[in-house]
Formats: sequence, C-alpha cells, structure tokens
Amino acid sequence: MSSNRFGCAVVSVLAAAIVVPLFLNAVANHRLLTLRSTCVQHLRNISVVFEAYRESHSLSNYPPRLSAINWTSSSVTDLVCPGSRVQVGSTSSVDEWTDYIYIVDLSGRRAPDTPLLLCPPANHYGREGCLLYSDGFTRCMWQPEFDRLVDELYANTNLAIAVSETLTKRSEGRYRSRRCPGRG
Ligand SMILES: [Zn+2]
Repeated sequence: MSSNRFGCAVVSVLAAAIVVPLFLNAVANHRLLTLRSTCVQHLRNISVVFEAYRESHSLSNYPPRLSAINWTSSSVTDLVCPGSRVQVGSTSSVDEWTDYIYIVDLSGRRAPDTPLLLCPPANHYGREGCLLYSDGFTRCMWQPEFDRLVDELYANTNLAIAVSETLTKRSEGRYRSRRCPGRG
C-alpha cells in the first residue's frame, strides 16, 4: 500500500470513528423526542378524560382510582406509554396494568405543583420521566430530577400513590402503591 493510500485509509477510519457515534447519538435522541411527544399527547388526552369525569360527576376532586372512570376502547389505550411493552388489558381493571403512576391528594387540596400522573423513565429508555399536572400542563425531566420528585411525593403523607402491579414488577419495587382509596 502506498503511503498516500495508507493515509486515506487512516483518515477514513478516523472519520468513521467520529461520525458513527454522532449518528447513533442523533438516532437515539430522535427516538427519545418522538417517544416524548407521543407520551405527552397521551397525558393530555387523559387530562381531557379526567376533566370530563369531574364535570359529569360535579366533583371538585379527582376520582379515587383510575378504574372509577369509564374508559372507552380508544381512550383506554392512552393509559399505556408508547415506550412500554405493556398490553392494554381489560377496561375494568386499568389499575392493574397501566404504566402511569396516579397521584391522589387525600387532603382534597391539591397543590398546583403536585402532579396527577407520572410516566417513569422505565418507559423512556431510562433517560427521562414525564408528568401531567391537574391544570393540564405537561413536563418531562431527566431521570435524576424525576427520581428526586418521586422521593418528595412518597415523603408527602397527604398523597396516595397508585401503581399497577405490572409497573411495580417492572421497576423492581421502585414504585409501589400506597394508601390508595378503595384498594387498601
Ligand atoms: Zn411515557
């Protein structure tokens, strides 16, 4: 091999070593962004269902558990994050399989910064979690910040936290139900 061709080969290998990781990183970021936007859309759809439920029941608070809502065959699919492999189960037992975490404020005075639903990082390649607040606002945050928020929510004794058995198993016990009305 001439020194010229050898030089070209070295340059090609170096270029590949730089470009391939950049490309893979761009693909991973694109997948995360696509997933985030679909998950956030699910959360917004659920927010609309919540508000319709509250309006029809003249409730100032939210339902005690997700299965209190009469989910339709189309709205029930929003209870699965597109980043998880959970199968949509029976509409009568959404509490057992949804992979969103439902926060119930037992005091009846929900603080504006207390989330209503959480989608944990397990559904987003372990990188970020997304939240829905009661005013319909949604937000996604990186995993360390999300974990800190979850710890704060578990420390707040006014909150009941509903986690499906499926998600408790998938998260190896990181997320567990606590004081869920009607579920013990
Ligand atoms: Zn999600």
